[in-house]
Amino acid sequence: MKLDVDALRYLSKDDFRVLTAVEMGMRNHEIVPAELVDRIAGLKHGGTYKVLKNLLKNKLVHHDSSKYDGFRLTYLGYDFLAIKTLVNRGVFSAVGRQIGVGKESDIFEVATEDGTILAMKLHRLGRVSFRAVKAKRDYLLHRNSYNWLYLSRLAALKEYAFMKALGEHGFPVPTAVDCNRHCVIMSLVNGYPLVQVKQLQNPDEVFETVLGLIVRLAEHGLIHCDFNEFNIMIDDNEEVTMIDFPQMVSVSHRNAEMYFDRDVECIFKFFRKRFNLSGHEDEDDNDDGSESDLESNSRPTFSSITKSSGFLDKELAASGFTRRDQDDIEKYIDGGGEEIDGPDSNDEVPSDQEEQDPDENHIPLAVNMNALHLADQHDFLMHSNDKDALEEPQHSMIPSTTSEAETSRAGHQVSINDGDDKGSDGRPTSAHAGCSNELEVSRAEQDDSNELNEDDALLTKRLSKQRRRGVAAAQGGHKAISSRNSYKDKGGRSSNNSKLQKHACKW
Ligand code: ADP
Ligand code: MG
Repeated sequence: MKLDVDALRYLSKDDFRVLTAVEMGMRNHEIVPAELVDRIAGLKHGGTYKVLKNLLKNKLVHHDSSKYDGFRLTYLGYDFLAIKTLVNRGVFSAVGRQIGVGKESDIFEVATEDGTILAMKLHRLGRVSFRAVKAKRDYLLHRNSYNWLYLSRLAALKEYAFMKALGEHGFPVPTAVDCNRHCVIMSLVNGYPLVQVKQLQNPDEVFETVLGLIVRLAEHGLIHCDFNEFNIMIDDNEEVTMIDFPQMVSVSHRNAEMYFDRDVECIFKFFRKRFNLSGHEDEDDNDDGSESDLESNSRPTFSSITKSSGFLDKELAASGFTRRDQDDIEKYIDGGGEEIDGPDSNDEVPSDQEEQDPDENHIPLAVNMNALHLADQHDFLMHSNDKDALEEPQHSMIPSTTSEAETSRAGHQVSINDGDDKGSDGRPTSAHAGCSNELEVSRAEQDDSNELNEDDALLTKRLSKQRRRGVAAAQGGHKAISSRNSYKDKGGRSSNNSKLQKHACKW
């Protein structure tokens, strides 16, 4: 997905207020009725409806009238909320090109004020094949009423917490910098995914190191569960860094042994195939280097490892990742697992391997500083007084990703380009990017945008009507007449909506 964040600079304080109101509404509504968005946002004179039109145009929200009339955030809208929050916190100040695309994530370069380049991972749970999505959606949405934003946020929080804890225990992982919503900021790994590496000076040493990591993880009570050549980065000195932790499980998981063996097998298979490892040992060391000897002598078994589960619990909890979060995310992984692994879905579900053919989709990782362009002062849009609106509300059904008090520094700028289709100076080619740019949405949202175009005229009409009603209600105190589809919220003292409204008033 191309993340064109130019629009971010052109969005007003009210735009973000309404976007945040949609997000808050989604805590207990799959689709948030416009009336509720309006009440949460609390803009005067029916302003919410006008803003919603703008957000729709920029594909930051999606309109849905299948069950009742309302809106939900798109991934792009969610991206903007997370990015703006992190920029407000001073974590980074510019977004650069995309450097990676995973099964369920997009990875971009970001730059701090002092020019340090970091990596930003935006989680996109649900961006797998339709069938797999449907299986997971059935499992989660209908039975447990989870939503994709929640799951993506959980994945990000888990990744951040594990990265931090593993780093503290000396594992070679990127440095965890910060996390907000579905977004994790980490250090940029200086290297390449192992899958892109054709030759190694010391393949057997790298093999031992990598295998040793699986064992050490198990000793710390953990199994990576996606330990393969796509999630191992290697630099020019053949130093290894492991990445991608949202699917990790404890050694006490009921399928722990199977996951452990699968990780080990992935590594054996890759090194055998790519570096002809067993053949190399055959040639050089005829006595004990046969494939079967390699297998039986060096293959670690789950039962032979002294495991101490709960080793990292304290560190994980310190990052705000709870056991309940782990249970929730495991339900997602387990819930869709059968479908994903099943033979029927093989052709539809892109695995890392299928998505990232090393020859066809080589993604250069060298940092191109020119691709990053810091905005001029006049581009600066952040208002110091809207910072609170962007932080996730704390008292919600869904735990927030951060608990610490936020410090916000005015004066940060966001300047974005993707480095692919911009001018050679790295500047956006459109002068009116925020107003007229086509903002790309993730594949999972392609359908949404098609629907959107069809519905556009109708919706514009409806929004204008709702706006007139809102204005009339505000001016004359008349009760807005509910349409057949419209959502009814009585907003009693104890209802969630009135709580949300109360919270919104504090902004
Ligand atoms: P997914 O969970 O979707 O598989 P990953 O975390 O594996 O996502 O990231 C996908 C790709 O992005 C990786 O294969 C790698 O090329 C790149 N990448 C991820 N994290 C970093 C990082 N910290 N530094 C550099 N490149 C990264
Ligand atoms: Mg990966």
